[in-house]
Amino acid sequence: MANTGASGKLRAIPLGGLGEFGMNMMLFEYGEDIVVVDCGVMFPEPELLGVDIVIPDLAYIRDRRDHVRAILLTHGHEDHIGALPYVLEEIDAPVYGTAFTLALVRARLEEHGMAESADLREMKPSAPFAVGPFGVEFIHLTHSIIDSGALALTTPVGIVIHSGDFKFDPTPTDGRTSDLHTLAEYGRRGVLALFSDSTNVERPGMTPSERGVRERFAEIMAEARGRVVISCFSTSLHRMQIVADLAHEHHRRLCFIGRSMHRNSEIALQMGRLRVPAGLLAAPEDLGQLAREHAVLVVAGSQGEPMSAMARIAVDSHRWVTVEPGDEVVISARVIPGNEKAIFRMMDHLYRRGAHVHYADGSTPPVHVSGHGSLEELRLMLNLLRPKYFVPIHGEYRQLARHKEVAEEGSAVSGKTFLLESGDVLELDSVGAWLGEQIPVGHVYIDTGSLEEVGEMILKERRRISEDGIVVPILAINKQSGHLEVPPEIVARGFIALEEAPDLMESAREVVLKTLEKSKLEEVGDWGVAKDKIRSALRKHFDQELGKRPMILPVVLEV
Ligand SMILES: [Zn+2]
Ligand SMILES: [Zn+2]
Repeated sequence: MANTGASGKLRAIPLGGLGEFGMNMMLFEYGEDIVVVDCGVMFPEPELLGVDIVIPDLAYIRDRRDHVRAILLTHGHEDHIGALPYVLEEIDAPVYGTAFTLALVRARLEEHGMAESADLREMKPSAPFAVGPFGVEFIHLTHSIIDSGALALTTPVGIVIHSGDFKFDPTPTDGRTSDLHTLAEYGRRGVLALFSDSTNVERPGMTPSERGVRERFAEIMAEARGRVVISCFSTSLHRMQIVADLAHEHHRRLCFIGRSMHRNSEIALQMGRLRVPAGLLAAPEDLGQLAREHAVLVVAGSQGEPMSAMARIAVDSHRWVTVEPGDEVVISARVIPGNEKAIFRMMDHLYRRGAHVHYADGSTPPVHVSGHGSLEELRLMLNLLRPKYFVPIHGEYRQLARHKEVAEEGSAVSGKTFLLESGDVLELDSVGAWLGEQIPVGHVYIDTGSLEEVGEMILKERRRISEDGIVVPILAINKQSGHLEVPPEIVARGFIALEEAPDLMESAREVVLKTLEKSKLEEVGDWGVAKDKIRSALRKHFDQELGKRPMILPVVLEV
């Protein structure tokens, strides 16, 4: 590869997460050495049919696979670690993360059969180490997941801080507060550039502590006549701990429901990061024997994901759990844009079953608090670090733009603020900072059922089927004579109600018959040709009659 960046300058290259929600991934390149910060996924828009996750285009690191010295993970959320299995397929580099992050990573890699081959190395606060020309220090900061933090990279041109996702929570449930001292210490030594989380720049003030939900959960648990069912992200250990503590106080047994919830609670229990008194936990299969007022459930699926435990409980198709009148259901999560319909539909079902549903509707005390710092916390980060250059990260374009304004209103940034999007390259040396040549970036669509990349063509086809449906003409052709044994049958799905258009199907059958009649015997004998002719004749027919273009898939049965 020709252009690997001249030595003497540092290049910051966001492959994702700037100007878009999720898919956070940033490279720092000095000479020929690269470190990767985070490898996240994005969850797809509903129109990406059958696509489960979106990852960044990895072409840039694929071309420089031998230059990647390390992958550094700020924390264990999917939008920071989800693309790791796909990245490790391309490059072979050690992965650094904190204990809990690595535990989640290990579980994820196991699903991909990659846990054995990966080189996972634990990273601890206040324990700097070197990778290539970079010195790396992990700085613990609070967030909605435990063991999260910022990264300080000491590079040959100066110190660069990547904030990860953070808030400054004064009372986290694990007692581990943000390490403001180390941030301030770096600020005193002089920071060349700060890359800081912009997610909540639109919110004034400070984000409430993770403990903020405790009061409301306690109220609900004290008053509920039946079960209390709390749905949150399966990485929300703060919240799981709060529910465990309250369950104990309110004499309710605690049960974790859903695959990811079960797995993550097991991991956290084993690591001693979730503290649950003996005898408190109940197995899902034992719930039937427990009085409803003696149980509290923590359930995966707060976004209404169709196959999740919460969605299945809502439609009464879960193996162990039902919801009944007198039960209280808490959706303890924000509505991620794009998930509104799925979540509200799930709530409707829960209400229909007679449950009462609490969700983040703005009422206080809240059932959910954000994991990202609000405006004053973002200002505090700027003021502690007082960087020469500032780059807002993790946010849609308007959030990055707002964060830039915030930085420019204050006096913390002595040099310049850069508004970058994924693919923009910032180059820095000891003299200045400037925009380099852009690199190609993009989205890669993954179908997790098959773990395969889904091409644009396939998406186009899926979109067409979803709009105009599918028509399958079935022909039983005699192998010897090449003639139809029985009249062609036509099956249609998502196209038009057959009762409404009996004539249409009849005429379609005639089109098929005429096409076969006009064909030479060899053509009919060659199924490929026969299918093509039928497909184009029917396409023309439906287009003329209805102006519709369903997908047409002729099937030939040799009899
Ligand atoms: Zn994030
Ligand atoms: Zn996060």
